Amino acid sequence: MSERGAFDKASVRDAPLDGARALVRVDFNVPLTEGEGGPSVADDTRIRATLPTIELIRERGAAAVLVSHLGRPKGGPDPALSMAPVAARLAELLEVEVGMAPAVVGPEVEAEVERLGSGELLMLENSRFEPGEIENDPELAAALARLADLYVDDAFGAAHRAHASTEGVAHLLPGYAGLLLEREVRELTAVRDDPVRPLCVVLGGAKVTDKIGVINRFLETADSVLIGGAMCFGFLRAREIETGESLVEEEGIALSERVLERAEASDCELLLPIDLVLGRELDPATEVRALDGIAVPDGWMGLDIGPRTAAEYAGVIAGAGTVFWNGPMGAFELAPFEAGTRAVAEAVAAAPGFTVVGGGDSAAALVEFGLADRVDWLSTGGGASLELMEGKRLPGVEALLDA
Ligand code: ADP
Ligand code: MG
Repeated sequence: MSERGAFDKASVRDAPLDGARALVRVDFNVPLTEGEGGPSVADDTRIRATLPTIELIRERGAAAVLVSHLGRPKGGPDPALSMAPVAARLAELLEVEVGMAPAVVGPEVEAEVERLGSGELLMLENSRFEPGEIENDPELAAALARLADLYVDDAFGAAHRAHASTEGVAHLLPGYAGLLLEREVRELTAVRDDPVRPLCVVLGGAKVTDKIGVINRFLETADSVLIGGAMCFGFLRAREIETGESLVEEEGIALSERVLERAEASDCELLLPIDLVLGRELDPATEVRALDGIAVPDGWMGLDIGPRTAAEYAGVIAGAGTVFWNGPMGAFELAPFEAGTRAVAEAVAAAPGFTVVGGGDSAAALVEFGLADRVDWLSTGGGASLELMEGKRLPGVEALLDA
């Protein structure tokens, strides 16, 4: 276990597990694909990431009751978002049986939990089948707490949400940090508080408003912030540059204007694209053209950074002591617009500095390019990693026992 970064919460390694029943909050919010035999897990990265914690709990003689949310069911059970395919995938990975509960809580679930022996596993239904999950309803938290003697939180990806299964229940049972959650907090905190310099932050993706807190924080602490993705168009508009039909968030323009002012006054270098790849519309078969500049003509959308921008960003990344990357440089899901994201991914993978990537879509891009194991830390948390980087407290972590 790496001892980078600060972590002051009790670890599952020190929990009284022998003969106990542990309620384990995991982040099994994974993409599903529809197959002939029903839905199955399309990407099991998040499941694999938490296997060490589950294995430790089993080896130490506890029964594990696993709970996670999956997708966004609308306030009640939705068979299409059942945890059953996820439990099946977990069983394959661990090569042990994983029981599937008929609900999240209730008498039937309690009866199944009663029957669990040491080292056995039971997956609860999607926590968001209970409306009380998102409302952090104390009654749901109490019903969850009745299922176990202690609580283990390994769901870093959900740690920024104060929900019944991430926060409420941690006030009712002694709460311990899982191995993944601890490692996530340590690696990200090290980048935030104690980076080897220069610190280069690469931000992309759809919306400035999602990432404004992180931009503002890093303007104070980073050596360079490189902007790509649709996010850059708010900045271009703030500079009164035409953006054609590009995706622009209206409320992002004023925010971007303030970021530009702050960047002027700071020691941090803020880089924006110098060239773009354009398309007529967000479609893989659309007409495509390169633009050696950034003023997007009417009738065109900016859908990727151009090659000169990619080369410039790659150079900064190569010279960094630490790189944090969140958000793709373009609409990388469409082949004509993936080059910028691929170039940045390759630069991050090849960088001699310490490299950390966070964000669902950036992580998916790295996996797609076969570069996932070439970075030092690939965070399983999108929103949670951003909030931690911003300096916010994560309610799911705060509620755990102190070390
Ligand atoms: P992450 O999940 O890594 O934090 P975001 O969710 O913020 O990233 O943004 C990812 C999405 O942004 C992707 O679906 C990508 O297609 C889209 N995107 C990036 N750049 C553009 C662009 N120029 N135009 C339209 N969509 C874009
Ligand atoms: Mg995303």
